Amino acid sequence: MDFDIVIVGAGLVGASFAMALRSAGLKLALVEAQPPAHADDNWDSRVYAISPGSTAFLQTLGVWKRLDSSRIGAVHEMHIFGDADAQLCFSAYEAGVAELATLVESRRLQSVLWQALEHQHNIELICPERCVALQLGEDAAELTLAGGRTLRARLVIAADGMHSWARQAAGIAAEEKPYGQMGVVANFACAQPHHNTAFQWFRRDGVLAYLPLPGQRISIVWSTPDDHAAELLALAPAAFCARVAEAGKNALGELGLLSPALRFPLARLRAARLVAPRFALIGDAGHVLHPLAGQGVNLGFGDADTLAQVLLQREQFRDPGEIRLLRRYERARAEDILALTLVTDGLQRLFAAPGGAAAKLRNAGLNLINALPVVKNLLIRRALG
Ligand SMILES: Cc1cc2nc3c(=O)[nH]c(=O)nc-3n(C[C@H](O)[C@H](O)[C@H](O)COP(=O)(O)OP(=O)(O)OC[C@H]3O[C@@H](n4cnc5c(N)ncnc54)[C@H](O)[C@@H]3O)c2cc1C
Repeated sequence: MDFDIVIVGAGLVGASFAMALRSAGLKLALVEAQPPAHADDNWDSRVYAISPGSTAFLQTLGVWKRLDSSRIGAVHEMHIFGDADAQLCFSAYEAGVAELATLVESRRLQSVLWQALEHQHNIELICPERCVALQLGEDAAELTLAGGRTLRARLVIAADGMHSWARQAAGIAAEEKPYGQMGVVANFACAQPHHNTAFQWFRRDGVLAYLPLPGQRISIVWSTPDDHAAELLALAPAAFCARVAEAGKNALGELGLLSPALRFPLARLRAARLVAPRFALIGDAGHVLHPLAGQGVNLGFGDADTLAQVLLQREQFRDPGEIRLLRRYERARAEDILALTLVTDGLQRLFAAPGGAAAKLRNAGLNLINALPVVKNLLIRRALG
């Protein structure tokens, strides 16, 4: 056997899973198609809201302390507005936590994870490389790489994202529903201080979020129909800033563009199973959510943490690719994945529905939750991870 475990895809989820097993006495390989982009001083347009639960996981991996703290944003309050007069507010102070979420640039997080991986003697990073064939046998899995090398392992992990090659090669079906929307992301300097408050507006043309970065800066995610996203990206910078400021009710005054706007197609995806003999899915390879709750990568970190714990706690010498062991992981993740898929998909549909009756219902719902501390507390506990 060349390896105990081969992980296909070293994005945030695959890389964090490998780090979670760094001291397990297992021999690991990570196959990644593209090396991560270099993190320079420019603000990365791709910023993630990381839950306190995920922060704690990244701390146990020893990677959180490698991040430059002057580039991390903190959310102390969150104000959500409906498309009528409804409002829902969450506060870290009321929830009894230091922050509701932290904001981290994708490139920087990826880069500290890779730096940490390069120091692990039991982890081989094979990059850039693609996999071309997978065979899941009784005693071992065999993965053939485009360069001709064949890797034999007890277990193969698919962490290769939404369009997972490995999931398809393992014959696991997935239900995919495109939303017909794009997530438009960009960073801005704002004229007024944000006081570590995140804002989210459910609008007729989608969902717009302002997320606080350090200083007077914000990152936005505007989930909006494809044609509107194309129109926004075609605007000159000054017109784009004015459009985003106006859509955000000028909550932070004038905006100045700090990083180029990018767009990502949005879809929901759910794999029929998370495991098969000698095979498991983690992260977006197994489930993709609408970004309105900012929970996709947090859910993936939960997968990585849970699967690593199952493997670390197995009886000594037990085969890590054994299906009964892998089912423990699948069972442990089922509730979180289902709950977040239903909530994000349900909210997306509720706010996309046309007509006055739907508008009344959704806005009354937001006001009702705001008036019910117990429900608010339940929601916040789940979001904190
Ligand atoms: C607009 C937007 C905003 C978002 N905001 C948030 C947020 O604030 N908070 C949050 O929690 N989530 C957020 N998400 C979700 C988040 O981006 C994803 O859940 C997360 O990136 C998934 O990570 P992953 O490692 O599973 O997959 P990916 O990031 O897709 O990584 C997969 C890796 O596999 C590699 N790969 C692919 N195919 C192969 C192959 N055949 N062989 C080898 N390597 C391969 C790729 O190069 C890549 O490095 C957002 C998503 C969008 C679209």
